[in-house]
Amino acid sequence: IQALTQLFLLLTGEAAVGKSSLVLRFVNNDFQENKEPTIGAAFLTQKCRLEDKVIKFEIWDTAGQERFHSLAPMYYRNAQAAVVVYDVTKAASLDKAKSWVKELQRQANPNIVIALAGNKIDLVQPAEESEEDPAENGREGGREGGRQVPTEEAKAYALEAGLLFFETSAKNGDGVRDIFVEIGTQ
Ligand code: GDP
Ligand code: MG
Repeated sequence: IQALTQLFLLLTGEAAVGKSSLVLRFVNNDFQENKEPTIGAAFLTQKCRLEDKVIKFEIWDTAGQERFHSLAPMYYRNAQAAVVVYDVTKAASLDKAKSWVKELQRQANPNIVIALAGNKIDLVQPAEESEEDPAENGREGGREGGRQVPTEEAKAYALEAGLLFFETSAKNGDGVRDIFVEIGTQ
């Protein structure tokens, strides 16, 4: 007989940083190149086995759009954990993530476990079998802007704010399971 623990988790962050894609990767081990934007919020569940227990994640995947912001408290009021997502190729998305963290730390359950996830690292990792123009790869900033948020900068912020920190790719799966396992463990 194994203990089954229910864990309410909220995903938030700017629109298009890949929140729904992270959930899709975790729940279905799948990725969609042109994922349609979430309207309002989506609810998904996924069981995850840890060493001595099974955690059932009850996940609220919220829309990042400003017009849904007033609904946010409905979702974070009962959340035991939150994953605040930004896009490593968009510096402004980290600013947005920081404002979410502030809001959660002020308004949500004081025991909430918050993880910061820098998503889309596949876009800034050297491609293993790249067929791109090498001149383009070497250029300052790179294609589509390249990395705009250095790992060390985000990590330092996460440490200071008391957050778990991950860099992830919903596209290739890197780091995705780690977020949920670490949150479940905590
Ligand atoms: P959300 O608005 O935060 O839920 O973002 P979505 O999950 O809808 O993703 C927005 C867009 O980014 C979609 O076109 C996804 O295919 C793409 N995307 C999401 N995650 C990744 C990733 O890790 N790498 C890459 N390259 N694209 C991603
Ligand atoms: Mg979404």
